[in-house]
Amino acid sequence: MYEQDMQRNETIFGKILRGEIPCNKVYEDEHILAFHDISPAAKVHALVIPKKLISSVNEASEDDLTLLGHLQTKIPEIAQLAGCDKHGYRVITNVGPNAGQEVFHIHYHILGGEKLSGLNPKL
Ligand code: AMP
Repeated sequence: MYEQDMQRNETIFGKILRGEIPCNKVYEDEHILAFHDISPAAKVHALVIPKKLISSVNEASEDDLTLLGHLQTKIPEIAQLAGCDKHGYRVITNVGPNAGQEVFHIHYHILGGEKLSGLNPKL
């Protein structure tokens, strides 16, 4: 399943990028798009994706250094536009099945707008 998904170029985020399905946009430029998550896990939950298809952090290469650096340095502005910059926020990217990655187009979750629970529920 994981291998098949990784090899498939077609993802829901590809459809959003091509304008085939709508999104609630937060920010867009030539290289990246940010939009609100359809099923928010916090009061504010935005996703940031590069327009280039990279399946996950595992598939990022040195060719992607500038693009992913750009994406990451835009996160504070996107958090501000989404309304969660004031008191801090969390940035997460899931990789593969153990992390629960569902969409195989690299994306960074920005979670905030409220106090978030700790990362380790076992503690
Ligand atoms: P992940 O589990 O890390 O692959 O995250 C995928 C995220 O994409 C989940 O949080 C979903 O709620 C979100 N998602 C799926 N489809 C859409 C959509 N059409 N618009 C916005 N967010 C979506």
